[in-house]
Amino acid sequence: MARLCLPNETIEQILEYAWTSTTSATERKVFFATLATADAVLHTLLSRIATHCVIIDVSRFSTDDMDLYADRSYRAAEAVVGNKRSSLRIDQYYNLELPEDDLLAFRRDLYKSSHLRIEGFTGASDQARHHRDISSRETDDTHRRTWGYVLAKLTHIIPDAFSVTVAPAPGSSWPVVKQIVPALLFPTLRSFPSLRSVHFATFFEVLNYANHSAAPPYLPRVTSLRLAHVPICECPSTDWRPRRADGHLACCLAATLLESFPNLRHLHIESPVFLKTLRPPASVETLTLDAPPVMRIQGRQAFSSLIEYNVSAAVRRGFMSLSPSPSGSESESESVQPDVTDERRNGKRRKIVVRTGAEEPFGWVSAKAACDEAGIELVKVVEYVEPVVRTDPMLIAIKSADGVSVSVPKRPTVLEAAQMMAAEVQR
Ligand SMILES: [Zn+2]
Repeated sequence: MARLCLPNETIEQILEYAWTSTTSATERKVFFATLATADAVLHTLLSRIATHCVIIDVSRFSTDDMDLYADRSYRAAEAVVGNKRSSLRIDQYYNLELPEDDLLAFRRDLYKSSHLRIEGFTGASDQARHHRDISSRETDDTHRRTWGYVLAKLTHIIPDAFSVTVAPAPGSSWPVVKQIVPALLFPTLRSFPSLRSVHFATFFEVLNYANHSAAPPYLPRVTSLRLAHVPICECPSTDWRPRRADGHLACCLAATLLESFPNLRHLHIESPVFLKTLRPPASVETLTLDAPPVMRIQGRQAFSSLIEYNVSAAVRRGFMSLSPSPSGSESESESVQPDVTDERRNGKRRKIVVRTGAEEPFGWVSAKAACDEAGIELVKVVEYVEPVVRTDPMLIAIKSADGVSVSVPKRPTVLEAAQMMAAEVQR
């Protein structure tokens, strides 16, 4: 067989690339079936890769990927814990078959180091069914077309993961996650015992707790958070719903998102936001900011900029300071200075990493001066080889802190994108 020409590591890399490039559950199923009949070694390697890089596409409430994983892990478990399907247990609310404790424990162990990628979780189109008649579930599969069902099933089949990425589906143009997210997704993430890293590669609808007065669930085990889009507060002044002491609505995701991660050590922000509006937990040691070269005006040269982050204003108000200054006043940032050398000695100096192009981004000099003053290390990493122009929709609908859209023309706002998404799903 030709595979003997290449070392296993190389074949594994090729397979991993192929696996993570798949764009649908059908492709993944065919991939497995093809290798199963073609070559036992390749099939085993692919099984290992699929366990390490779990991809679950839930677009339009699909559970096809989950069924594939359930089948694979069930067969793998049979050899270890035996077939114990005799006493079937059912989740009464979702009418969902529950795995036996042994099987669940087996799966938990199997996936504890895995990277789980959930694609196509939009939260859209669930609201209309929110008050559905549960008693009718025997006669139709309405209950299967809710995000609650999808996530409940997911946690039974993939009950643990080291990292989770919530991403748009490959074919989706408008990746907006609607208000169901914290109510369902956060408790799901909380149920993974080994979870340390979370990446939201999606937009958020801003008032995410709209129908849920409960406080956002905490994810104290997560130490790394990456956000494609930082939610910006849009609390209406006339809203009657309960407010926090700081004036935000209790359902304001912008105000509460970072509070859900009290032990964060690394925060990565992919799209510009005024940093001074953020309240990251005091535990954050490293902040990564993406500042790719972008063509702001059609036909003009692309350039990168830190200005939209306004690093210096934030740092001068105590952002990323070693002793948190809750009020964020100018004078308090001075008192941070003496601690810096101690922290540096302990190797805990705070760091801001800027991922950008070869050219120095606009705003670098002032950011550097402010960081030097505050004892924060500012590092530039050339991540985008110029001339690279990032044109993906992620950058488009971002709003700066004062609500002014970044100047990329003729693209939908978050709200428009959400409406288009909802219309698409209802069609
Ligand atoms: Zn708010």
